Amino acid sequence: MKFNTKTIHGGQQNTDPAFGSVMPPIYQTSTYSQTTPGGHKGFEYSRSGNPTRKALEDALASIENGNFGLAFGSGLAAIDAVLKLFKPGDEIISTNDLYGGSYRLFTKIFEGFGIKFHFVGMQDTSKIEAAITDKTKLIWVETPTNPMMNIIDVVAVSKVAKAHNVLLAVDNTFATPYLQQPLDLGADIVMHSVTKYLGGHSDLVMGALIVKDKELADKLYFIQNASGAVSGPQDSFLALRGIKTLHVRMQRHCENGKAVAHFLKDHPKVDQVYWPGFEDHPKYDIAKKQMRDFGGMVSFTTKNDSLEGAVAVVENLKVFTLAESLGGVESLAGHPASMTHASIPKEEREKTGVKDSLIRLSVGIEDIDDLLEDLKQALN
Ligand SMILES: *Cc1c(COP(=O)(O)O)cnc(C)c1O
Repeated sequence: MKFNTKTIHGGQQNTDPAFGSVMPPIYQTSTYSQTTPGGHKGFEYSRSGNPTRKALEDALASIENGNFGLAFGSGLAAIDAVLKLFKPGDEIISTNDLYGGSYRLFTKIFEGFGIKFHFVGMQDTSKIEAAITDKTKLIWVETPTNPMMNIIDVVAVSKVAKAHNVLLAVDNTFATPYLQQPLDLGADIVMHSVTKYLGGHSDLVMGALIVKDKELADKLYFIQNASGAVSGPQDSFLALRGIKTLHVRMQRHCENGKAVAHFLKDHPKVDQVYWPGFEDHPKYDIAKKQMRDFGGMVSFTTKNDSLEGAVAVVENLKVFTLAESLGGVESLAGHPASMTHASIPKEEREKTGVKDSLIRLSVGIEDIDDLLEDLKQALN
């Protein structure tokens, strides 16, 4: 089945057995009746399993070319479940330019439990090689990175991971499986903040993990059930509905993202524009190889290199909404240094390029003329 059919039918029953409803019913229930102790129809209690969540989890597995999907109450709950695979003394190597909440979870929670993190610039895989020890258990990759739009070569990293018998997890939130499918590139675990493009309408908070290997899936399922950070049936239904239009939304996000990136690059008040579709992006060739297109996320700095300058631009936008998050149908603008990345210390942040003047755009699927007009008036 091709991707654009999978989003609508992959892993999904086309009709429910009870009444033939085309969309899966929302099983808003905590428990299920049993005819005799243990005599149930596959579901006992909704933390352990719920038919609406199961429908979503099967769809997630299908679009990422995995065998098993698991849905969580948020993206961070999904990452939390991955980290619970490990023990004190274990080491994890992570991208240094990553989502601020992931960094906070790693350093403020799991470091306290004795897990050691190494943050490296993974554009150069020899740096990963140098950080590996016999205690290394996981490599954590985000690509494109947030918000600097660096590209990491997943195939190259997976070769390093395999050579050292280390798991590789990829946060695929920015790209979505429409653009890149990390399991096919050698990753063991794909993670999503479903909150973003998969949900696509800024109306839910959810996370997901997708894997191929049964043994790994069983361990993660054990953690999902034992720790209990599951997604609810209403939200699972909304996420399923979102996934059905993922391919058409992403196509427009990419078209509009490209137009915005080029507009900014030509604008006299704009300094740097970060978007992996530029031929002079340092990893353009890798982006072209591992992604189908370049996505709708664009970051930039203004020539007036100041906090006040960036704040004035985002405050003057009218079609773009100043808000955290990304990946919805509406265009959003964010100021990473004071919003999504405020939990990363200033000197750490600036090492990766997150300056006070950086603005991040999640380009939505509105009419491109209105988006460009809005950027023009705000920059002026
Ligand atoms: C938002 C986000 C997360 C965290 O997901 P939540 O659903 O907000 O918990 C993780 N990684 C990336 C890249 C994100 O954008």
